[in-house]
Amino acid sequence: MAWQKTIRRAVSVQGVGIHGGEQVALQLRPAPPGTGVIFVRTDLGISIPARAENARDLAYATTLRLRGAEARTVEHLMAALAGTGVTNLFVDLSAAEVPILDGSSLPFVELLRRAGVVDQRASLPELQVRRVLRVGDRERWIELRPASELRVDYRVSYSSPAVGRQRFVGAITPQRFASAIAPARTFGFPEEVPALRRRGLGLGGSLENCVVVDGERILSGELRFRDEFVRHKVLDLIGDLALLEYPVRAEVVAHRAGHALHVAAINDLLTSPEAWELVEPDRLAPFTVRPYELEAAVSAG
Ligand SMILES: [Zn+2]
Repeated sequence: MAWQKTIRRAVSVQGVGIHGGEQVALQLRPAPPGTGVIFVRTDLGISIPARAENARDLAYATTLRLRGAEARTVEHLMAALAGTGVTNLFVDLSAAEVPILDGSSLPFVELLRRAGVVDQRASLPELQVRRVLRVGDRERWIELRPASELRVDYRVSYSSPAVGRQRFVGAITPQRFASAIAPARTFGFPEEVPALRRRGLGLGGSLENCVVVDGERILSGELRFRDEFVRHKVLDLIGDLALLEYPVRAEVVAHRAGHALHVAAINDLLTSPEAWELVEPDRLAPFTVRPYELEAAVSAG
């Protein structure tokens, strides 16, 4: 039986936002069953539910916006929540952006462990994908395929030799998330900085919160994994999938994707009611797709 989860007690952390460059205080507070994850702009008195319908500005990070209020760069915290199974939480923000901390989800996972993750007496349905959905073009795309658990096959390709082509394939269990995905840090390239700054982005970025790649060289010290880059893309994907509000039973195949495509795939799914269903935990059974159903779905899509 899968239960909804929250935290035992409030915890907080401070840091800089990687894009806005502002100092921000973040507090996580327990929330009752059925709440979902709600960002609370304490400076504005506006609450923003972490749902796909509120996702905006997806070029370099995932922003939630409602009634003119924003919660920026929510994905690394959302990934930590999804990875540890926390479904109900208030996230108080003193300014517009979640602090970047070390650029990964690990500080958030440690913060949640300090707060204590607890089961709530409410069951948690899972979102079973029922047919193949695909968004994108020939260069960059995402496909969702029916599966009995969340599995990811993510491929990236960058011209910088220090990154090159990388691929991550596997099921995302809580243990695998914590050890193999959560520590992977965000990354950037010096040549992107002028364009970012012109858009008012990357103002809080530094060698302490971002893996900086200059051609063949890593300017920010040792990598945590040889393939840290693709692992971070998987982290971003898990954070964006959390905007569906339910654990997802699908295989997600992503090719050179990013936040905009992640959210496009989610929106495509949500507007295709025949492509998924919510399954109560007591009805969850091993799910298999017969090959001809998959082929039919692929040719129809
Ligand atoms: Zn990221």
